[in-house]
Amino acid sequence: MKYDVIIIGAGAAGLAAMRKLVKAGRHVCMLEASSVTGGRIATMHDGFDQPVEAGAEFVHGKLPLTFKLIKEAKLSCEPVEGKMIGIQNGEWRKEEHDHHWKEFMRQLRKLKTDITVHQFLDEKFSAGEYLELRRAVQRLAEGFNLADISKASILSLRDEWKNIDKKQFRIKGGYDQLIKVLYDHCVGSNAEFYFNSVADKISYKKHVVVHTTDKNKFEADNLIVTVSVGVLQSGSILFDPPLKEHAVAIQGLGFGAVIKFLLEFKTRFWETYDPDIGFILSDEIIPTWWTQLPTKSKLLTAWMGGPKAIENLFETNSSLLQNILLSLSSIFKIAPAVLRDELRNYKIVNWLDNPFVKGGYSYNTLRSREAKEILNTPVYDKIYFAGEAVSKSDSQGTVESALQSGYDVAEFLLK
Ligand SMILES: Cc1cc2nc3c(=O)[nH]c(=O)nc-3n(C[C@H](O)[C@H](O)[C@H](O)COP(=O)(O)OP(=O)(O)OC[C@H]3O[C@@H](n4cnc5c(N)ncnc54)[C@H](O)[C@@H]3O)c2cc1C
Repeated sequence: MKYDVIIIGAGAAGLAAMRKLVKAGRHVCMLEASSVTGGRIATMHDGFDQPVEAGAEFVHGKLPLTFKLIKEAKLSCEPVEGKMIGIQNGEWRKEEHDHHWKEFMRQLRKLKTDITVHQFLDEKFSAGEYLELRRAVQRLAEGFNLADISKASILSLRDEWKNIDKKQFRIKGGYDQLIKVLYDHCVGSNAEFYFNSVADKISYKKHVVVHTTDKNKFEADNLIVTVSVGVLQSGSILFDPPLKEHAVAIQGLGFGAVIKFLLEFKTRFWETYDPDIGFILSDEIIPTWWTQLPTKSKLLTAWMGGPKAIENLFETNSSLLQNILLSLSSIFKIAPAVLRDELRNYKIVNWLDNPFVKGGYSYNTLRSREAKEILNTPVYDKIYFAGEAVSKSDSQGTVESALQSGYDVAEFLLK
């Protein structure tokens, strides 16, 4: 069977592209390594009192494509609520930007040539009085953007951080409902789905042939590759003949790591400290925590992102749990044994350890702009790259950017 288009990866980008192509009458084959759709949108519907997000959780502002799908599927969205609390050396305070933050942004606005975050801090804020500012910037870059500050572009982060205080939302009932809307539109005579189909080799001459680990072959005129940067950089998919400038471009993208901890307790014990906790940013081993406010839930989520998550790749779940309890104990001044007893259920999701993702999401390096230009041009007019990391959308590393990239590549191909 020869298809018009093969898509590798049934995440947001792959399904968005498929939807457009199928609608335009193209015969499309989807190869997905796992047994389900969604990729890094991974709502869990079992084991907890409510649907729980192992991957994407927030809609960062009124993002046009995401909200269009939400509206189309008649889903409801809930604005995220609660206070942002900072904890330093055990001391609780309402989190506010460091008092040097305004100066930091002023210097950033003046910057014309791109450098790394590390270089920028070294050049402009090396004096002792800026120690806290430097720590705060590093925390933000690593925690929010999963970035390594020795590689991340300061100008890209400047553009993202301008929008950091925007309202965030959660999709009631789970992020995966967005994926379901896309999937439902794709299913039909023009679309074929192959799950548990791991692409490991792509040959391209007259046509494109995708080989899978279970020794199947799929042939098409065109191919869209939407796998994560982690998968592409690992070389687990072989290209024959080998890619040239596209291969260099792939290595130029930044891709961070993240471990997400989902903890369901018997009670909302944190409410005795403050009933309005939204987020906690601390200097503990597991630094970032959040509740589900405004939903009154017994779930606490913890987050370890950036180089710290990479350092913890080989930690066992029991040692990670130990660190969770120690961090939480230090924040709430409750003995770890008492917290362990309070804990009803938990799940540790290490995305670097997932063979079909190998990380969290992308951030911009000094080479990203040029790399994206290259990756947005097809190889031999046959192989197209899509996915959150190659999107030129302003919402770097998000579901919105994945959707944008999927729609864009389909439109490009249809032209
Ligand atoms: C922990 C975490 C939290 C996040 N939080 C948010 C958030 O709050 N808000 C937000 O907007 N974004 C968030 N993101 C980012 C967001 O989830 C991603 O940007 C987006 O889902 C990526 O979609 P994609 O289609 O580009 O890639 P993916 O979702 O990774 O899809 C690629 C697909 O390719 C498949 N695949 C991989 N290798 C192969 C192969 N060899 N053969 C066949 N198939 C293969 C994978 O299984 C996967 O299904 C988060 C990500 C993570 C990991």
